[in-house]
Amino acid sequence: MGKLFPGSARLLALADEMREVRTVCHCGKKATMVVRKSPNGKVQVSGDQVLVGGNEMYVSLCRIHWREAVGDRKPIVEEEVFSK
Ligand SMILES: [Zn+2]
Repeated sequence: MGKLFPGSARLLALADEMREVRTVCHCGKKATMVVRKSPNGKVQVSGDQVLVGGNEMYVSLCRIHWREAVGDRKPIVEEEVFSK
């Protein structure tokens, strides 16, 4: 849903060092977003932020393909990237 996990936000606030574990989107670009897909392959855009133990699948995507997956067609502007 494009929201930072609360635990991740706290860690970012407190960390002295950060090491990035890079993940790659299917297009080859750096993946910075994640979608959760239901067992039928449909991207979930509502519901609990954290869901452990289900049959859902998490897929890492670049921002462009994440926006496509969640149906966000608005043009990307700088404020959008940094204000959320
Ligand atoms: Zn991509």
